[in-house]
Amino acid sequence: MADFEIAVIGAGVVGLAIAARLSEKHPRLVVLEKNEKYGMETSSRNSEVIHAGIYYKPGSLKASLCVEGRDELYVLCKEHDIIYKPLTKLITATIPAELEKLESIQKNAAENGVELQLLDKAATLRLEPNIKTVGALFSPLTGIISVHDLMDFFFQTILSHRGLVQHRCQVMSIQQNNGEYEMTIDDVGTQSSVSSEIVINAAGLSSDLIAQMVRIDIDKEDLRLNFVKGSYFAVTPSKANLVSRLVYPVPVNEGLGVHALMDWGGRLKFGPDVEYLEGRSLDYNVAEEKQHAFAESIRRILPAINDEDITPDMSGIRPKLQRKGQPPRDFVIVHEKDRGLSGFVNLIGIESPGLTSSPAIARYVESVLFK
Ligand SMILES: Cc1cc2nc3c(=O)[nH]c(=O)nc-3n(C[C@H](O)[C@H](O)[C@H](O)COP(=O)(O)OP(=O)(O)OC[C@H]3O[C@@H](n4cnc5c(N)ncnc54)[C@H](O)[C@@H]3O)c2cc1C
Repeated sequence: MADFEIAVIGAGVVGLAIAARLSEKHPRLVVLEKNEKYGMETSSRNSEVIHAGIYYKPGSLKASLCVEGRDELYVLCKEHDIIYKPLTKLITATIPAELEKLESIQKNAAENGVELQLLDKAATLRLEPNIKTVGALFSPLTGIISVHDLMDFFFQTILSHRGLVQHRCQVMSIQQNNGEYEMTIDDVGTQSSVSSEIVINAAGLSSDLIAQMVRIDIDKEDLRLNFVKGSYFAVTPSKANLVSRLVYPVPVNEGLGVHALMDWGGRLKFGPDVEYLEGRSLDYNVAEEKQHAFAESIRRILPAINDEDITPDMSGIRPKLQRKGQPPRDFVIVHEKDRGLSGFVNLIGIESPGLTSSPAIARYVESVLFK
């Protein structure tokens, strides 16, 4: 018999959400995480926004799992005292030419079942008097969540179901043997092995490399990830009250545009920008040289911000399937039984809205495995 029924590779918010859900009925479950603690990569380096589900292509996994996950997160927050704020959001058009774009965003959102209100300039300025606007979309269901609180909740749920979370366990290779998977694990230089009937690859920025370990040709299948950094700048406290909700521009190509958000310390921040990295380095340094360009992007929506009002803050790296200049890609969440990999589930390209979608992704993974 294999050591475990289920092994989840990766203890980010997605792996933890999956393990929290599956461990209830399948307690012979382990989460294998290479870092010292869960949630040290992308899951703790993001905007912490509960997205409403506005921009994603209707019918895509991103659209359906975001809407489902959003509703589920609000319920979880209320029931389990997870810190959140239903802040709401504006997408502001700053020139008349962008008003048409707002209408197409509103239409797309409606197809995803998300109702947005189109506000004229006066109504927008009543909500946010300091922003630049000729009209905006108001999203009542967008909020923010403490992702650390959420991950703590999933972690405790796994333990309460008698599942295990093993830190400092890096999966180095995977062999398929007689209906189970044998994984070589590196624990700070010491090698061991662990076997499992089911393996769920939720390894974030390494998920394509994990897929490669079971001999999936990630180049042929167009599954090689691009590392796309998003940096944030923080605004000086004296200007932190210039907006009171999330404010976004009309989106640009690969991201939603540098937008205003609030952190749990009450700071106003702007970000993330979009920077395709060469290679796969986890370089989280925020370049000071970006200050002027950042301030320019911010002034597009909040003219009162001067260059010296902002300082480099934090960054995160998106695991993007989308190549630079190419159209957006959907989440890849597949039970690979058609490749002869029964019991092996790949989750690749789980960029935004992965946090919002996490409880719905967990349900989806359960359905592809057990229904
Ligand atoms: C700048 C930015 C802003 C974002 N903003 C939002 C937002 O506002 N709202 C939203 O919904 N989403 C947002 N996202 C997306 C969201 O953060 C991610 O979708 C989510 O965190 C992905 O979680 P994950 O568990 O898949 O990945 P991760 O958090 O990366 O977890 C994967 C884990 O796998 C582990 N691992 C990797 N390889 C191995 C191995 N070989 N063996 C063992 N363990 C391994 C890693 O150490 C890591 O802990 C944002 C992302 C970025 C980068």
